[in-house]
Amino acid sequence: MASLSTDDSASAAQEWRLKINRIQSSKVTPEMRQGLLRRAESKRLASARVKKSKALRCSAARSAKSWSTCQRRMESVKSKFAPSLTMTSAFGGGRTLTRTPKEQEAYKAEMDQLMMEQTLDMTSCQDLSLTSVNDYMTSSDKLVGTALVVQKAEDDELEVDDDEIQADISEFQALLEKIKTEPTDDEEIAANFKLYEQYLETVELVRKSVFELWSESKESFPQSAVRTIEHELQRVDSQANMEINFDSGRWFVYEMTQKAEMNRQLLLKLSKSIQTRLELLAAENDCPICLEPMGKGSEERPITVLGCCHSVCTECWEHWMAMKHGRAFCPLCRHEEFLEEILMPEEERR
Ligand SMILES: [Zn+2]
Ligand SMILES: [Zn+2]
Repeated sequence: MASLSTDDSASAAQEWRLKINRIQSSKVTPEMRQGLLRRAESKRLASARVKKSKALRCSAARSAKSWSTCQRRMESVKSKFAPSLTMTSAFGGGRTLTRTPKEQEAYKAEMDQLMMEQTLDMTSCQDLSLTSVNDYMTSSDKLVGTALVVQKAEDDELEVDDDEIQADISEFQALLEKIKTEPTDDEEIAANFKLYEQYLETVELVRKSVFELWSESKESFPQSAVRTIEHELQRVDSQANMEINFDSGRWFVYEMTQKAEMNRQLLLKLSKSIQTRLELLAAENDCPICLEPMGKGSEERPITVLGCCHSVCTECWEHWMAMKHGRAFCPLCRHEEFLEEILMPEEERR
């Protein structure tokens, strides 16, 4: 059975090659080819930028989750080592909440462990922001067989859900209320301050990424969109420079965390508008191989985005893979070679 299906796909690939041969040799003029390759290139850039945008949105989304998780874990360590009431004075009847030195030591050790794990988790959020657009346009030489499948799985992992973002915002705000007044416990104060610093660092990295992504993509945006987005970007800046009111009666760590969180929410909103536009740029086009329209519409062909961020229609890619026995290279990165193979007369192929 297996050999039969291999034969089938081999003959389908053969049929496909003849069809593409016809299209590419008789329909495509040199000027058209220039245009095709130019469009494929700008589309490739847009795809890589979409990936960058997804990664930094994922970084922003996961950092809030990480902050909340740490707050909840702190709560449970605190309740595990809740100080007990002790008589401190035989005369005045003074009573205070204390831990024994041994309890205090165990409490400190658990808090330290928690904060160490937290640092690792926040660092992994930050790493997501650090991949550059160029990194996403990796060489197509690496592209053999399963590389594509891996790429797809990575892509899906980076998808962030809007409802989930909203739920995380609510949780964050509820937990933030708990540090509105300064804790009395030194460990708790130190842990909260460290958590804030890590959180701010992550938001700053996301901010830097959004600004970079914007400055390199804005030439492909229409004027009206540029104005709207730049206006929003200014709001992020002004938030960052906003003075903190230390006389508010609220703990300054609360105030500063709240401010970083407002910036994070603005950045998520902004990157979404940028990404939506980039997705359009990445989607609109014809398959550069068979020249048929491709995209998400039901009438159109599904797209396969390769590791280099070039895209071709899935049908073309599958036939090309079959023709190359699973070791296909990108037909656009190595276009000359691809054409040679497609245009090679049948008798020379044997
Ligand atoms: Zn095609
Ligand atoms: Zn390519």
